Amino acid sequence: MRSVQTYFPAAEPCAVLTTQPLDRPLDYLAPEGGCALGDFVEVPLGPRKIIGVVWGPAAGDFPRNRLRPIFRVLDAPPLGDDLRIFLEKSADYTLTPLSAMLRLATRAPGLGDAPATRRIYRLGDAEPDRMTDARTRVLEVMREYGGLAFTQRELADMAGVTASVIKGLVKQGALREEDAPRDLPYPRLDPDAPGKALTDDQKAAATVLCDGIASGAYGTTLLKGITGSGKTEVYLEAVAACLRKGRQALVLLPEIALTSEFLTRLEARFGGRPAEWHSGVTMTERRRAWKMVAEGGAQVVVGARSALFLPFRDLGLIVVDEEHDTSYKQEEGVLYNARDMAVLRASLCSARVVLASATPSLESWVNAQAGKYSRVDLTSRFGDAVLPEMKAIDMRAEDLPSSTWISPTLRAAVKLRMAAGEQSLLFLNRRGYAPVTICRACGHQVACQHCDARMVEHRFLKRLMCHQCGETAPMPEQCPSCGVEGKLAPVGPGVERLAEEAVAAFPDARIAVLSSDLFGSARALKEEIVRIAEGGADIIIGTQMVAKGHNFPLLTLVGVIDADLGLQGSDLRAAERTFQLMRQVAGRAGRSTKKGQAMLQTFQPEHPVIHAILCGDEEQFWAAEAREREAAGVPPFGRMAGIIISAPEAQDAFDLAGQLVRHAGPLIEAGATVYGPAPAPISRIRGRHRVRLLVKSAKGVVLQPALRKWLGGVKVNNNIRLSVDIDPQSF
Ligand code: ADP
Ligand code: ZN
Repeated sequence: MRSVQTYFPAAEPCAVLTTQPLDRPLDYLAPEGGCALGDFVEVPLGPRKIIGVVWGPAAGDFPRNRLRPIFRVLDAPPLGDDLRIFLEKSADYTLTPLSAMLRLATRAPGLGDAPATRRIYRLGDAEPDRMTDARTRVLEVMREYGGLAFTQRELADMAGVTASVIKGLVKQGALREEDAPRDLPYPRLDPDAPGKALTDDQKAAATVLCDGIASGAYGTTLLKGITGSGKTEVYLEAVAACLRKGRQALVLLPEIALTSEFLTRLEARFGGRPAEWHSGVTMTERRRAWKMVAEGGAQVVVGARSALFLPFRDLGLIVVDEEHDTSYKQEEGVLYNARDMAVLRASLCSARVVLASATPSLESWVNAQAGKYSRVDLTSRFGDAVLPEMKAIDMRAEDLPSSTWISPTLRAAVKLRMAAGEQSLLFLNRRGYAPVTICRACGHQVACQHCDARMVEHRFLKRLMCHQCGETAPMPEQCPSCGVEGKLAPVGPGVERLAEEAVAAFPDARIAVLSSDLFGSARALKEEIVRIAEGGADIIIGTQMVAKGHNFPLLTLVGVIDADLGLQGSDLRAAERTFQLMRQVAGRAGRSTKKGQAMLQTFQPEHPVIHAILCGDEEQFWAAEAREREAAGVPPFGRMAGIIISAPEAQDAFDLAGQLVRHAGPLIEAGATVYGPAPAPISRIRGRHRVRLLVKSAKGVVLQPALRKWLGGVKVNNNIRLSVDIDPQSF
């Protein structure tokens, strides 16, 4: 093995990677006192001073006498080898510039400010005597971020002003200067605090995970257990084992809304609150978390996918909870799948991965089947809870007035539960009042002006909303197409409309609607969830968000309003998604001592997916799914990449796509095939037309080098955006 230089004495050339959009590190001379690999440094770039990381030996393609010296080494924990290699490999895999990867890893604000000199700034009470553009910009930034405090550098960078502008505002009393709070370590967590007494099954599963931790070597385990079987209790034992070894643990959750409940649970288990990392965490807290993760003062981090890029000092375990969840795939900016990246990161630092789910992704199931991952199953629910009984309601045989969706059979079942003092959940995976608004005079369907999507009526907000771009508009009085007044009518149900029907059908019931857009804040939502869990509602009407993780002990009936919804369309993952979603939703019923029941309203009870859900033979379902994917040569049995080209004019996007197809030589030589161009799954978003090419190859082909060569060969005009999506979610 080649030995890598790790220390650069003063004036010796070395390469520094910055977060500037350049495709590689730049050469500089080491500062007085030298610098080491991974050090955060301040370097000149043009007229500016920017922060970078010492990345390796100089590339040497620039004459030494023209290199500029590094200004100084910053007082921040250096980036470890494993994280640097992780960033390089994930940049390589996702075809992302390394600088963009570094940006993910250094999101902590104020990085590199010397702690001793750190002062922070808040809005003051006084108005400055004289306003300048620069001063206005600073005050605007401060107001935009409400009560947050910033360091001088953060503020200067964000407002694009010099330090003297900030000093001037302090003198005038328009800003207040104070000492930054010292970054405190998180409370010590006690792995030996008494946990719950595990059942024999749970103990056996925990032992497998703990043995893995003890081995000190990389390995991934799929922890498959039906909802309520105690997966969380089991992987908390792995966290404890990891802490006993003095290593750090990371728990990834698919949704921020689940963190606070989880933190409370973790605190109860280990006697202290761990670090938290997601977009809802304040800048100050993020700064603290970043630093403590690097120094080892944070033993456990609970967070969203971006927590994978934190500078752990010694990461020993990554848990990916609800590993099948599609929100682990980042769909904007750097496109990566956190589940796969967790496995990569762990393999680079001899850590263990636990993928936990009641309904694993087909990828993980196949990897376990092939022996790449080990697998542990929990097959019974904790305590007296048993899995709900599953039943189809054949909608062809139900007598339903038009514009109603709750069948007589389901209605009777809900009434029985109400009489017993139990809760029912009516599940419909559609936000808003009605998915379509149609003109009864001309047949026009109201659509978003910027996207290839219909506008969805949200009666609660009294507006139409585009679920692609978020644009809203008032409900028009006249048809936007034919101009006739008073003829616009809702078609089909959303949860709000379903709630309306429920109010009429169950006049005595207390009805609660759980849909993400009905709550102003995560906190309001959490309070509502607690209220419902304590029995504050008889009927819960909810979208996808109720399928995840929340515990409603009184809930014994789940009615799925439209079980066929996900099966339409041509997406090869539709069956997997529907299967997972239906099982997850059904799993909400009967989580405590009362037996639960799930009823699926369907027009095609004989459909293989519906059939598999009902009979509950999961292994058979996965095996059949795997066979179909294998026959189609798609992931996880083949490799695939999506190339999305977007432009204000559709023709420009198609032209570039056509050009790429004509110059596909490098791909063909590598044994890959290009399909398309075709309109992307969503063909227009925010006014940009989107065209997609799909690249497919056998599993043995490494696509990335071929893709790089291929895409490097065409010129992309400024108005066109091209992004590469390795392992796309839909195909
Ligand atoms: P899962 O993550 O598989 O859905 P959880 O770990 O959340 O399951 O467990 C479901 C419920 O059962 C939780 O309220 C949990 O506290 C409880 N539970 C599970 N195992 C035990 C145990 N061994 N002792 C006490 N309570 C348990
Ligand atoms: Zn839109």
